[in-house]
Amino acid sequence: MTKEKIVKSDSEWREQLSADRYRVLRQHGTEPAGTSPLNYEKRSGEFLCAGCGAELFESGTKYESGSGWPSFYAPMPDAVATTTDTSHGMVRTEVNCARCGGHLGHVFPDGPRPTGERYCINGAALDFKPKS
Ligand code: FE
Repeated sequence: MTKEKIVKSDSEWREQLSADRYRVLRQHGTEPAGTSPLNYEKRSGEFLCAGCGAELFESGTKYESGSGWPSFYAPMPDAVATTTDTSHGMVRTEVNCARCGGHLGHVFPDGPRPTGERYCINGAALDFKPKS
């Protein structure tokens, strides 16, 4: 995947994205648990960044965490970047799209094998591309 970063102004993102997607991707929002149709997506394919189309997660790494958000045990190589998020009185590791910087969700150390990580991702930050 291309390493070229995508940089847009706030007004460009606001124009491009739906209100729900803008709030998650560009304002660090969190969708209400259990609301994303992608919670129930079980087909083979890839989950793409809803901001820039970058390939972020493969269906083979998706699992049912019970959290109410789409969950994966690993991202695709070099697809995401992480930062420390100290908002809301917690210390969490925030997960962002490596290409456009969009906020995706958080990663927690309570996932399944083989990584032990749980990428807890807002469905609003993703598009699903079924394998053709
Ligand atoms: Fe992106």
